[in-house]
Amino acid sequence: MSLVVQKYGGTSVGSIERIKAVAERVVESRKRGNDLVVVVSAMAGETNRLFKLAQELSEMPNPRETDVLVSTGEQVSAALLAIRLEALGYPTVSFLAHQLRIATDSNHGRARIRSVESDRVRRALDDGMIAVVAGYQGVDPAGDITTLGRGASDLTAVALAAALHADLCEIYTDVEGVYTADPNIVPGARKLARISYDEMMEMAGLGAKVLQLRSVELAQRYNVPLVVRSSFSSAEGTWVGQGDRSMEDVLVSGVTLDQNQSKITIAGVEDRPGLAAKIFGPIADAGIVVDMIIQNASADGRTDMTFTVARDELRRALDIVKRVAGEIGAQGVRHEDPVAKVSIVGLGMRTHAGVAATMFRVLSDERINIEMIATSEIKVSVVVNAKYGELAMRALHDAFLGGANTASETV
Ligand code: ADP
Ligand code: ASP
Ligand code: MG
Repeated sequence: MSLVVQKYGGTSVGSIERIKAVAERVVESRKRGNDLVVVVSAMAGETNRLFKLAQELSEMPNPRETDVLVSTGEQVSAALLAIRLEALGYPTVSFLAHQLRIATDSNHGRARIRSVESDRVRRALDDGMIAVVAGYQGVDPAGDITTLGRGASDLTAVALAAALHADLCEIYTDVEGVYTADPNIVPGARKLARISYDEMMEMAGLGAKVLQLRSVELAQRYNVPLVVRSSFSSAEGTWVGQGDRSMEDVLVSGVTLDQNQSKITIAGVEDRPGLAAKIFGPIADAGIVVDMIIQNASADGRTDMTFTVARDELRRALDIVKRVAGEIGAQGVRHEDPVAKVSIVGLGMRTHAGVAATMFRVLSDERINIEMIATSEIKVSVVVNAKYGELAMRALHDAFLGGANTASETV
């Protein structure tokens, strides 16, 4: 008998019909003799709906109350699934984060998990029950509800799998696995049979939301066997695990698009030591992650400093930057057209020169202007005008992954 953690995303539990189908799948696994812990997301669209309600009442809704609100979506789907499983004759118990104690810090909206107590789930399983757990939520030291960040039901699932030493963590979603690019944007994208934790982390961090970034980090740290598959079909999914040599033979394993990016420029900053720290210190203190930064030196001893932040942090970042710009005598602050970040990812880039050059040529052939560039050992990212994000992604996929060069590890 195996202990399996299954996680069903928003689309998978998006209607009563879908919840019935999920229950069937859970029962199937139970009939095969597995002990089951099932983590659920809110029904599709529900979390966004709740965020919008808060926005209608306040421009800057109180973070604690926002978490009380947006965590309710998962409570509803957990109860609905438990009700259905009971109706099918399978003893089931649902749990919210405070009942298990998925303990987090108090960073509302992006809380980090400190510990997971798995005793209650264990007891339920020992009693022959199916445990259904509300994803995305935690509880802070004061006993207040927190949420773990968008898409973080994946993290709940992996954290439980790690705490319970589960044999397998299955992530059920609306695509058949991890593809070489988002299959909803790139029709020629191919499903990967396997992907290494490292590559998956890069892809998740660069916009491939099929798995949430921190869930992959945690899976790697605790060596949780992870598979991504569809809740709509029985197709083999994608295994995420330790990298092996065969994967390194491939130059590029995926192309990603992050459309949640905004660009800010502080113009006419005096070019002297300490000013970058004055600008980026307060932004970091506010917990805002700055992604790419470029500095254009100019002849008159002043520079322009341009950087990107997540689009949903733009307002807060601009407030801070405008204040700092005044203090340091900068000439102005611009917030430019929406931008997108397009990246190519692959362990194979470590040992191959010229990948970036090919990428730039492909974009140039499409007449797409590159606004910013960042590279690491296993990825190259460019920022382009948001209008061209999808075009850039398709062109790059075609160039690097369109041929037969990766057939060995796709299915
Ligand atoms: P869930 O609600 O099940 O968590 P998500 O919407 O968070 O589902 O993630 C699944 C989506 O991720 C897919 O519908 C797809 O559009 C997107 N996606 C982005 N990049 C990839 C990729 N490389 N492979 C598969 N899906 C991807
Ligand atoms: N419901 C949450 C969200 O929409 C968490 C998740 O779906 O994983 O972000
Ligand atoms: Mg998701």
